[in-house]
Amino acid sequence: MALTGLEIYKLLPRTNCKECGQPTCLAFAMQLAAGKASLEKCPYVTEETKEALGAASAPPIALVKVGVGEGVLEVGNETVLFRHDKRFEHPTGIAIAVPDNLGPEELGARVEAINGLNFDRVGQMHSVDLVALENVSGDVAAFAKAAKLVGEKTSLALILISEDPKAMEEALKETAGAKPLLYAATSENYEKMAALAKQHDTALAVKGQNLDTLADLVAKVTAAGVKQLVLDTGAREANQVLGDQTQLRRQALKRFRPFGYPSITFAKSPDPVARVVEAGVHIAKYAGIVVLDTVDRAEILPLVTLRLNIYTDPQKPIAVEPKVYEIGAATGNSPLYVTTNFSLSYFCVAGDVEASRVPGYILTVDTDGTSVLTAWAAGKFTPEKIAAALSESGAADKVAHRKVIIPGGVAVLSGKLQELSGWEVLVGPRESAGIPAFLKQFWS
Ligand code: SF4
Repeated sequence: MALTGLEIYKLLPRTNCKECGQPTCLAFAMQLAAGKASLEKCPYVTEETKEALGAASAPPIALVKVGVGEGVLEVGNETVLFRHDKRFEHPTGIAIAVPDNLGPEELGARVEAINGLNFDRVGQMHSVDLVALENVSGDVAAFAKAAKLVGEKTSLALILISEDPKAMEEALKETAGAKPLLYAATSENYEKMAALAKQHDTALAVKGQNLDTLADLVAKVTAAGVKQLVLDTGAREANQVLGDQTQLRRQALKRFRPFGYPSITFAKSPDPVARVVEAGVHIAKYAGIVVLDTVDRAEILPLVTLRLNIYTDPQKPIAVEPKVYEIGAATGNSPLYVTTNFSLSYFCVAGDVEASRVPGYILTVDTDGTSVLTAWAAGKFTPEKIAAALSESGAADKVAHRKVIIPGGVAVLSGKLQELSGWEVLVGPRESAGIPAFLKQFWS
């Protein structure tokens, strides 16, 4: 039974030292009770207290790791139903299925294609996360051989999909070091699958036929000593998956322990558009891992973009490093633009500078990742800050002139900025799309 905030508070040091990031121990206790904080944040909690807090301090959804090294995927550890309540912690892992009945060359080529599913979005690289090898052949030796080849060809985390414990055992002989996710324990095979997961210290997916059977099966598998679980309710129709995923999350947050693990879903519609929509629903509504059967970049790109949007911390705008960026082969005579370090502001300006075909420099000012007008209104994009950025960023070493172009929307800053910095301030267009036309008129 979960402890209340007051019960937790009585076990804390009660010194209100604030090191946990909360103003008081009571506030921290309330966050713990709501599953929105981790006990580790308080450095003064004793081992006895940790034990006493037990389930109250454990995250409502366990953190599960699949894979090793750079390819490791972490899922779970979620604490909220809605992103605006706090944030979602671990983005849905995107897995691409490969059948084990392909010839070695075809199988290798498919894995290479999966390895290449990388996308640059607002300056960050996004990729798929797992290769899911399916034992469609039903053959033990073929599955093991394919597992070996896939393991050699990718550093992504692996999922081994077979309900045959013998096939799983043989495939694990080739891949155990890669700590694959074993899919799946069912009511027929769970004892053997649990034993394999324990022996190789890997995560195990548990597959029910509905929420009730899943809860029963999870209880049996955890009783067998496996703690790293991933849940599959067995649903495959989009509306049923949506309902089940929502229930899993709701019940987990209410501390129903059998559902306190991340989930796995499958988006396998034969129609590409339906497949992307299905996978999008799964990503939006709580899937820890979604498995797709495609290597088409046009299908994966919208999904990584959706995932990026959902799993971005709403309290932290996406920011670029505040510094001087060179666009094209800029020289000492190239124009110097200034904007904020909000990613979208930077990439809009960078794109339009490129489109102007006049190489230039962009100085991004640290505004905590907020856009130009937001930062100006919040007092984060001021003449003082821009003048300081001009002198501290090394911009003066990049250009021989002393002219800086500011966004037209903050023309009001120009006089004070000129006075403080000593640079001639040119007021640029209100929208960066106007940069090419602006240059033709005002830059020679
Ligand atoms: S770090 Fe611990 S002792 Fe300090 S305020 Fe937070 S809960 Fe209290």
